[in-house]
Amino acid sequence: MAPAPARSCSKCSAPAVTFVRYSGQHLCGDHFLHFFEKRAKLEVARRGRLPHGTIAVALSGGKDSVACLHFLEKVSRDNPKVDLVAVSVDEGIAGYRQGALDICRRVTEERGVPWHTVAIRDLAGYDIDDYAAGGGKHPTGEDRPACGPCGVFRRTGINTLARELGASAVATGHNLDDTAQTVLMNVLNGDLDRLARLAPHDAPRPGLVPRLLPFRSIPEKEVLLYGLLEGLPIHDEAECPYAARANRFRMRDVLLGLEADQPGTRHGLLRFHDRVREAVPPEAGGEVSACAACGEPTSGETCKTCAWRA
Ligand code: SF4
Ligand SMILES: [Zn+2]
Ligand SMILES: [Zn+2]
Repeated sequence: MAPAPARSCSKCSAPAVTFVRYSGQHLCGDHFLHFFEKRAKLEVARRGRLPHGTIAVALSGGKDSVACLHFLEKVSRDNPKVDLVAVSVDEGIAGYRQGALDICRRVTEERGVPWHTVAIRDLAGYDIDDYAAGGGKHPTGEDRPACGPCGVFRRTGINTLARELGASAVATGHNLDDTAQTVLMNVLNGDLDRLARLAPHDAPRPGLVPRLLPFRSIPEKEVLLYGLLEGLPIHDEAECPYAARANRFRMRDVLLGLEADQPGTRHGLLRFHDRVREAVPPEAGGEVSACAACGEPTSGETCKTCAWRA
């Protein structure tokens, strides 16, 4: 049977590379790139403008963070008021992290962006591999997935590096799927305060560098297509050996099922988060103050980093 003729782009006569179901458009490569970057710029514009000074891009080496660095470098190239740096955390996960760090080195060198790293071992006193093998310390002594300390120390590492570099913002490559998963997890936990505190941040909070998420409203598949069309290196993030125990990955499966049955679910959760952010000020969950043990910002008496440290 002859292959079906390729659909044309809804905006020109070139063959379409994708169909965007929620906008009803078939798009060619050029028009997809325009559609993608327009929404990322719109998300930046919703926060006012690209923050002036140093923007620290949180770079894991995965497709989303590499795409974020690429996008920000493109839009800030001719802007003398914006400097980019990249910041990465080495979790200490053998066979997984090294390939991603190699990509970080390559993409920052190619773009002339300074790159800074910190190891979880230096923050926690143990690698994530050590923790998973029973060598780490959980605050309650329970057997809990490695993503617990990994997430806490990654956030702290990125924030500390960005603060030390004098950054006015931390940009991350979180996409719509990530956002929807995080919102759903907090809804299921009934954690309204945390929901209100989630990035993006409009107002600065003491010790915490505000976060900027240009891809927050863009589905993961589109970030992948953007990376492919722009010729960016793709690192398979599903390789982390501890991913199977992560609650986030359960949420991902739940949301993929819901989205298939009821298209627009992820966008619905995004709108819900925006409504929460309008209705509940981030300080409603308690003021940010200095941790009594280490001085890092926390909404409790001592910070999560101290609780997890060896
Ligand atoms: S899956 Fe969990 S342990 Fe692996 S890198 Fe992600 S947060 Fe860390
Ligand atoms: Zn087109
Ligand atoms: Zn502390």
